[in-house]
Amino acid sequence: MSEGTERTETAADVRDVVVVGSGVAGLSAAVYAARADLEPLVLEGPEPGGQLTLTTDVENFLGFPEGVGGMELIQRGKEQAKRFGAEFVHGTVEDASLEERPFELELANGDALRTRALIVATGASARWVGADGEDELMGYGVSTCATCDGAFHRGDDVLVIGGGDSAMEEALFLAKFADSVTVVHRRDELRASDIMAERARDHERISFRWNAELLEIHGSQAEGVTGATLVSHPDGRPKSKLEAGGEVDREDVAAGGVFYGVGHVPNTAFLEETPVELAESGHLETLDGMTTETAVEGIFGAGDVMDPEYRQAITSAGTGSMAALDAETWLDAQELELEAEAPAAAEAQADD
Ligand code: NAP
Repeated sequence: MSEGTERTETAADVRDVVVVGSGVAGLSAAVYAARADLEPLVLEGPEPGGQLTLTTDVENFLGFPEGVGGMELIQRGKEQAKRFGAEFVHGTVEDASLEERPFELELANGDALRTRALIVATGASARWVGADGEDELMGYGVSTCATCDGAFHRGDDVLVIGGGDSAMEEALFLAKFADSVTVVHRRDELRASDIMAERARDHERISFRWNAELLEIHGSQAEGVTGATLVSHPDGRPKSKLEAGGEVDREDVAAGGVFYGVGHVPNTAFLEETPVELAESGHLETLDGMTTETAVEGIFGAGDVMDPEYRQAITSAGTGSMAALDAETWLDAQELELEAEAPAAAEAQADD
């Protein structure tokens, strides 16, 4: 509100439920909240649709025996939420006042939102490696998304950093375009599931550099990535050995692209100065037991932002639905409390 404009707050200014995040967790929360007539507002942030929009086929989401495209799953989820009355708005939360209710969210465009219940489903974003040159070359041959940028690397030799499912998925996707894909992993054992690891190992254009890490990326914004410096140590984790003053092997390799698949960090920066509790890893803390409630009454967490453990599309959908059910129960309890208080307040007024 601009200075000097006086306005009386009406009930209509305060939403029942705002869902921050439009990935699978946020969408699932929106479907449940909308079906409960809570008319949720879903904020689509800087990565609308979340991580699934950057993935290829999802093969383990129940009900899709042939697999389903990540983007398709998200689009269908959004249609489903809209069908029941969820409203979608583009907006990134920059600041949040969560000490008092209704909660207030300040968006990057200056708009403010008020809500009785808040579902945080902001997910997690791709982690960067911390190699020299990555700041300059991200988007110029360095990428966190093979499905977005892989086609630019037809005929290239590319590096994939990481040893989990994301790295295997990136490697397999890139192998459709690149001449060679080298997976650089800091240990000699993959973290990836057996099925993904086997597919990557069996692929003729994919090879592995074990016990190796990316130290520096070479190139420029004009010519793109031209190569990289890798360090290695027979016991693994060479960078930490280097930082501790140990000896490591160094090698310069030619590469036309570098893809990161080293996991994700939860998107909780906007909650740092609030009473919502965050774990050391940055994840939103929920209360013990089978609940999405947080330490702040009326605030609920869903999906990767609160789950450092499972991080699956299906579990995110699950916690999304739980958050909406928890929010609905909490809002109902608030209503009952208000109703119970109303006669007592009227009586007190009459006595005056
Ligand atoms: P992740 O399982 O946490 O794996 C991250 C990988 O990156 C690990 O191998 C880790 O090494 C490495 N790493 C982390 N920081 C690094 C750094 N600074 N430098 C070099 N290497 C680094 O993450 P994810 O692969 O993104 O998978 C996350 C979750 O999503 C998992 O539950 C996974 O199953 C799921 N997922 C499933 C699919 C699928 O089924 N199609 C696809 C993608 C993801 P260490 O092993 O040494 O820790």
